[in-house]
Amino acid sequence: MGRKRKRERVTFKRYFQLMLPFVRPYWKLIVLMFLVTVVNSCASFGRVGLAKPVFDKLLVVDVKSDDATQAASAVPKAPREPKALEYLPESWREVEWIRVFAALADKDAELPGVEVKDYFYMICVLAMFVAIVMAVTLYAKVIVQRMIVNSVTVDLRRHSYRRLVAQDVGFFDRSRSGDLIARVTVDLDLARQSLDHLILTLLDKPIAIVTGFVFCLVASWQLSMIFFVGIPIVLVPVAVLGKRIRKGATRRQEHMGNISDALVQTFAGIRIIKAFRLERAEADRFAVLNRLFFRKDMSVARARAMSRATTEFMYTFGIALIMLIAGSWFIATGSLEALGGSGAIITFFLGLGLMYAPAKQLLKAYNHFQESAAGADRLFGVVERAPVVQNRPGAADLGGVERGIRFENVRFHYNVDEPVLRGIDLEIPAGKTVAVVGPSGAGKSTLLDLIPRFYDVIDGAVKIDGRDVRDCTLESLCRNISVVQQDPFVFNSTIRENILNGRPDASEADVIAAAEAAQVMEFAEQLGGLDAPVGERGGLLSGGQRQRLTIARAMLADAPILLLDEATSSLDSRVERAVQQALDRLMQGRTTLTVAHRLSTIRRADLIVVMRDGEIVEKGTHDELLARGSLYAQLHELHEQRDAR
Ligand code: ATP
Repeated sequence: MGRKRKRERVTFKRYFQLMLPFVRPYWKLIVLMFLVTVVNSCASFGRVGLAKPVFDKLLVVDVKSDDATQAASAVPKAPREPKALEYLPESWREVEWIRVFAALADKDAELPGVEVKDYFYMICVLAMFVAIVMAVTLYAKVIVQRMIVNSVTVDLRRHSYRRLVAQDVGFFDRSRSGDLIARVTVDLDLARQSLDHLILTLLDKPIAIVTGFVFCLVASWQLSMIFFVGIPIVLVPVAVLGKRIRKGATRRQEHMGNISDALVQTFAGIRIIKAFRLERAEADRFAVLNRLFFRKDMSVARARAMSRATTEFMYTFGIALIMLIAGSWFIATGSLEALGGSGAIITFFLGLGLMYAPAKQLLKAYNHFQESAAGADRLFGVVERAPVVQNRPGAADLGGVERGIRFENVRFHYNVDEPVLRGIDLEIPAGKTVAVVGPSGAGKSTLLDLIPRFYDVIDGAVKIDGRDVRDCTLESLCRNISVVQQDPFVFNSTIRENILNGRPDASEADVIAAAEAAQVMEFAEQLGGLDAPVGERGGLLSGGQRQRLTIARAMLADAPILLLDEATSSLDSRVERAVQQALDRLMQGRTTLTVAHRLSTIRRADLIVVMRDGEIVEKGTHDELLARGSLYAQLHELHEQRDAR
């Protein structure tokens, strides 16, 4: 928990560091989106900007005297060329539409011979042009944004999966499946949302706000100054509350991991839950987790609501303040000219109104971003973890196996310091079978797990043909080792696909040969052939059938080393015989280390190793060990009794 707390800080910097590699490949699209957004933003403010000439040229109304509050009067102006024309080349100045256009933007300009209707037509044409630009850029903007976010999400999901499966077995021992599932589903979705907020709002809205700022400034710089000076005051509570949202969201996501884990446990243990009538107790436990999640979610919601309420208040208060200032000015001087004129003031307020929506969305997105960045942080917490077991620099290909496997003074413990293997020395010559027997918890399965580097030794070495397994590439180790586990695991697909997992490029003839050798064909035919489904975790097969299927898989893999962890559960004698025959064929000519529970396997082994408390206490053939009459003899007696039952 302490470690988790420390990871809580999801700073913008860290977020960008994490996401940058995924976003970088799409930089061209980002530049395109930026350009399109700028054009779109300018067009939307341009649309509002058309209100100014409407007031200045069409509704020529200005307030000039105290009694003007009762009646507005149109005051003719001395004709003056638009100032903008002075900056244009000589030839352009005479073009009629350019002259009208320039006059529209200049409140006091008057063109001889140009009538109000000319201005009116020009405004209509401009409005249509703006409409087309807005529609086209809006469409392009949305498509490009979605393209970026969706592409990054797909890359992120693929990368997360790859990184997760690359983790070492020890990592999965310590992790809770439900929490991992929550990280690559819910948290990944939050990471996607954070990107949505970032690209759709945090990049987009500031452009609208900056454009609006310039717009307001042009309309009335005097009023703009008053309003914008107040902005930093608003940002302080926003930042403080944003931090609170982020912290709350991290805790909330941890609780989501707990909920997900509870569900996984429930589904996995549903038979036990039913058999022991634990439904109610489990439901109560789930309700507690659910309530905790609710509380954390509410604390995030409170911080979010407070942030929104504060800024809403500041915004409305700011507008009221400006109105007060403008009104007082008018009362005192009787004119609005000093503030830019009535058209400018109205345009200023329209611009402010247009900025309101993006500013509000920006704040909302900032808060959401804080929440979703917490998800990104949790996701990367596992995705970025370097696997403990990985290829060393300079690791070489193992090639084949000619001499055999050697354990040299091997010591091992799991996370707790309690030793599980205490100085194991053992040799398994190539092509021979060594059976490991011993009481439960002696360390037999652990011994097997060190060969394919499911875990790395703490001290000593495991060597194949004299080469430390840690100096071999993981790929070449896997190619040379087949594992048949105590709990035969099959994937939820067909019999054929499960066998093919042993060697995906195998021919049909090889698959059939493996299926026949492992006596899979017998039951496959009854189930409808090799393409029959096996169900989740092989639920449509019996225990013995699952075992034979995993044997067929190992048969197809045809690796020189075989690690066999025999099932302790007794199968009925007919099935047992079928499994044993399949195993016998599999073991032929391979270097085999087997945790043996079947007397037949034990008897036939070239060497039997007896383990107790992480040590090898006896070694020898079946007859030698029986003659000694110690631990092996007792275990043998137990096995015989079990087999007789
Ligand atoms: P069994 O015959 O019951 O399968 P075993 O002889 O194969 O037992 P191991 O499974 O190797 O024994 O376990 C040896 C010890 O290591 C046990 O005390 C067990 O609790 C512990 N252990 C096994 N796996 C892990 C793990 N993944 N994490 C922590 N401790 C473990």
